[in-house]
Amino acid sequence: VIPALDILDRVPLARHTTLELGGPARFYLRAKGEADVISGLEWAHRRGAAVAILGGGSNLVVGDDGYDGLVIEMVQCGIEEQARGDRVLITAAAGEEWDELVGRTVSAGFSGLECLSGIPGRVGATPIQNVGAYGQEVSETLVSVRAVDRETLAIVTLDRDECELSYRDSFFKRHPERYVILSATFALTPEGAPAVRYAELERALAQIGSFDLPTVRETVVELRRAKSMILDGADPNGRSAGSFFMNPIVAAQDADAIVARAIADGIAASEREVPRWPAEGGRVKLAAGWLIERAGIAKGMRLGNVGVSSKHALALVHHGGGSTRELLELAERVRAAVEARFGVQLVPEPVFWGARLPM
Ligand SMILES: Cc1cc2nc3c(=O)[nH]c(=O)nc-3n(C[C@H](O)[C@H](O)[C@H](O)COP(=O)(O)OP(=O)(O)OC[C@H]3O[C@@H](n4cnc5c(N)ncnc54)[C@H](O)[C@@H]3O)c2cc1C
Repeated sequence: VIPALDILDRVPLARHTTLELGGPARFYLRAKGEADVISGLEWAHRRGAAVAILGGGSNLVVGDDGYDGLVIEMVQCGIEEQARGDRVLITAAAGEEWDELVGRTVSAGFSGLECLSGIPGRVGATPIQNVGAYGQEVSETLVSVRAVDRETLAIVTLDRDECELSYRDSFFKRHPERYVILSATFALTPEGAPAVRYAELERALAQIGSFDLPTVRETVVELRRAKSMILDGADPNGRSAGSFFMNPIVAAQDADAIVARAIADGIAASEREVPRWPAEGGRVKLAAGWLIERAGIAKGMRLGNVGVSSKHALALVHHGGGSTRELLELAERVRAAVEARFGVQLVPEPVFWGARLPM
């Protein structure tokens, strides 16, 4: 331990990722405030060490050899509220637990984050892949982020447009070396109506007979629980990184060809059975989970100590005692099956440190 900065040596990352996989971080720092982040960056710079930023480790695949550099874990807390016209601005520090923030805004009667209930991880990571679920994304309410510019060590404010948010993507995800997010500000609507846009959610709410904010939050959590998409230590599908692949977005004619092929091959009886949604620029978003199952990869399939979630074909799970190498072999098998069957290249959703798919 180096006294001034409390930099730890060789910290196993498996216990900091929801997959519970991955080797050690060569150096590790828990950053409790902005000064720790800047000092950590300076310390690594002096040593020529690489730096990676860690939140809750719920969207992360770490290689078995670990990370050969400094991992800075974001644990700083603090939430501020400020009225702004007919909105309320909520600024939360990067280390705040995301779902606690969502719960708090729902209890206060502020709409804007309710459908993002039950997503693991911390606030600072939500802009990274423009977290989204059940018809809502943080891009709809994010106003700005405060960040350390790793090139200059200056603290900057980036507005939403500068974050370049799109489907499970952002400037930050494409340029992981550039910024450390310190806090994020969201504009929410007091007494606003919840966003009920997702057919499955709408059906569940109609059955309950209530569409108010707390019911939306509870229902989203229940729908997620049924798919093992919330963190639950008792769930046999519990060790995962959520969806392992993104839903592919393809040209309209390619989507038509996939539908035609699925019908010709007897995988779908009609066009209606192939789930797809309109995406930007006239393109079409396909359901990765559907493609995986129809490519012959069944829910619950196992390969050694890893497997496909028995609740959701899109989640790969670690059953314990496994390795990242096994997980990557499984991921590659899934990817290759979908490519062989549909000609579609699935792209992983999590971030990889010291690991990659063969591709
Ligand atoms: C069961 C389960 C369900 C999930 N469901 C969803 C879902 O419905 N929708 C969805 O979008 N995601 C989902 N995810 C993925 C994940 O929860 C989110 O992406 C979440 O925002 C990751 O937060 P984290 O703090 O765990 O980030 P980490 O996994 O720690 O980090 C992810 C990436 O963000 C970077 N990062 C983290 N914090 C910062 C920061 N402060 N500054 C700069 N970079 C940073 C890291 O370097 C890394 O590249 C799910 C995951 C699990 C395990």
